[in-house]
Amino acid sequence: MASVVGHVMLAYAMGKSLRTPLHIARFWWLTMACCLLPDVDVLGLVLGIPYEHILGHRGLTHSMMFAMLVGLVVPRWATPTLVFGTRPYWVSAVYFFLVTLSHGFLDALTNGGLGIAFFAPFDSTRYFFPLRPIAVSPIGLSAFVSQEGMGVLLSELVWIGIPVGVWLWCVRVIRNTGGKGIP
Ligand SMILES: [Zn+2]
Repeated sequence: MASVVGHVMLAYAMGKSLRTPLHIARFWWLTMACCLLPDVDVLGLVLGIPYEHILGHRGLTHSMMFAMLVGLVVPRWATPTLVFGTRPYWVSAVYFFLVTLSHGFLDALTNGGLGIAFFAPFDSTRYFFPLRPIAVSPIGLSAFVSQEGMGVLLSELVWIGIPVGVWLWCVRVIRNTGGKGIP
């Protein structure tokens, strides 16, 4: 996996890119929860589920189907007044779908572990992107607070932090020059 820091950086940029004023505390808590939620499958390692199993790490919870389910459910928590099926509901659903899917997207750019089962439960094939510049993060806090963990942070700063910073700068410039932002 990419580390918590990498996932949070990308999700923060996605949230800040929204024009819709959803920037209340609950929105941000749910944004951060969604970008980290796919790694709930790490619990499977404790329960003895093999990494390569569809319920194993980077399996079903990293899939597009899982992200879709999250996207459908979370808008009601983010904004309880939203009515299912309305345009604001779908905008919010797509947003939380993309935030959840961003987790697997970053994991597929890492240089270790198994690939991502993007098409589970229909296809359990694991996928990586052709370019994998991000150093894979060790599992567990003790492993992360180490020289290896520092290397991962540096890698994420370069490959996630810099693009995210440039993106946020562009969003700001577009808004300051009269653009309406994204979407
Ligand atoms: Zn992951």
